[in-house]
Amino acid sequence: MSPHDRAEEDGPETLVSLDPRTGEVVGRHPVHGPDEVAAVVREARSAGEWWAGLGFAGRARRLADWRRLLVRRLDELAALVCAETGKPLDDARLELVMVVDHLHWAARNAERVLRRRRVPSGLLMYNHVASLEYLPLGVVGVIGPWNYPAFTPMGSIAYALAAGNAVVFKPSELTPGVGEWLAASFAEVVPEQPVFSVVTGFGPTGAALCRSDVDKIAFTGSTATGKRVMAACAENLTPVLIECGGKDALIVDEDADLDAAAEAALWGAMSNAGQTCVGVERVYVVEPLADRFVELLVARAAGLRPGGEPGADLGPITMPAQVDVIRRHVCDALDGGARAVVGSRDSVRPPYVEPVVLVDAPEDSPAVAEETFGPVVVVNRVSDVDEAVRRVNASGYGLGGAVFSRSRGAELARRVRAGMVAVNSVLSFVAVPALPFGGVGDSGFGRIHGEDGLREFARAQAVTRRRFAAVLHPMTFDRGSRTVRRLVRLVRLLHGR
Ligand code: NAD
Repeated sequence: MSPHDRAEEDGPETLVSLDPRTGEVVGRHPVHGPDEVAAVVREARSAGEWWAGLGFAGRARRLADWRRLLVRRLDELAALVCAETGKPLDDARLELVMVVDHLHWAARNAERVLRRRRVPSGLLMYNHVASLEYLPLGVVGVIGPWNYPAFTPMGSIAYALAAGNAVVFKPSELTPGVGEWLAASFAEVVPEQPVFSVVTGFGPTGAALCRSDVDKIAFTGSTATGKRVMAACAENLTPVLIECGGKDALIVDEDADLDAAAEAALWGAMSNAGQTCVGVERVYVVEPLADRFVELLVARAAGLRPGGEPGADLGPITMPAQVDVIRRHVCDALDGGARAVVGSRDSVRPPYVEPVVLVDAPEDSPAVAEETFGPVVVVNRVSDVDEAVRRVNASGYGLGGAVFSRSRGAELARRVRAGMVAVNSVLSFVAVPALPFGGVGDSGFGRIHGEDGLREFARAQAVTRRRFAAVLHPMTFDRGSRTVRRLVRLVRLLHGR
């Protein structure tokens, strides 16, 4: 039963979140309509002014308090993440460890990145002081997915708060409890004003947030929804940050450490039951190494078991509708000539999917071309890395990627059309707070995390201050007839050669 069905059963104003492992009710939440969303945004606006007024140091202190609270109650939140997503306990804990690290980085670096700084004033305006500052936008609306219900939205929330904004968060309808927990815990350390609030509901609640008086929307979810979000935001010229899906690939070069590549490919493809935007969904391995690589991958994959117990290797498919997508991708690939070296059509047993490794799948099959979002990986052989790079870049998506190569990892990484690339590992870029995160093409645009992620939630303001009267002042009706001619002569001298 999906949360939609449950909402209808309980009446239109209630959203019920369920444990995907058992179907048990985890919590009930209101479905907020446009008026309620508008009211929350209105309150957030004045809260944001208060929050901005605390300055970098005041905010950093509060965010540090929140960080300590999250650490103290990490297991409580991890249990809720497990209940709403079904993921294994240690995966939920790992997700929260990364949340804490990012929150720490954002709070610690906001002032350095955003504060007013002097910049050179240049030839024409040498008599001015020029400075640049990144000011808060006001209220940032964050719309999140369910697969990493704390880590993914916190990539926007923590950075937007550190930059001095209020935040209104619309969590996924599958994980509303995690969203509410985050906002409630923040309110414990910042009780004065609703600086970080949550609205719950389905797509229409997200759409209402897009059409509300927010100053920016940070959306993370599917490409199809991302386009709807952009269209709604266009009505008010509300700026958007769009973090969408991917079809990330791992390239195995001739001199790769094969054992390490197989281990990483397996984790990249199967952890979180493949429900990772930067999960490894395709592997391109050069021909001479292909058989050995597949052997190593199969040996490792054979031991993995999905299940609902805390220590399982992978949990269930959180969103019931995704099971059909996964089944279609596996069956289409097999019908098109691919071989399953791990698993089979029967591996899809809702709510669980056992690991599936497909080899030699047609490049135009959905398992290679579309986001699968399940524990399924395609391994295709290529004649050389140039062919691998061509195939990787043939995708409309361009989120992350990985390259295994001893001698030319950095060179290959540069050739991959993606926002992030890991060399000789997978997914590592998500855990480096200083690195920006985001994609190109169908994977979206804009960046969370790092300095770019802080600036994403701020508006650059340029200020010039005149210090003294210039000898040559061309921007006045009182300028002499020779002023501009002298300037042109000067420019010819300086820049014309
Ligand atoms: P989704 O697009 O179905 O939903 C995402 C959010 O958008 C939910 O909160 C949903 O209620 C809301 N929404 C739905 N319709 C809306 C509308 N018309 N207007 C505004 N909001 C609306 O995605 P999902 O199934 O929750 O998440 C899975 C997808 O997210 C995958 O494609 C995955 O790759 C992607 N993802 C991307 C990243 C990233 O950082 N790039 C991270 C995690 C997940």
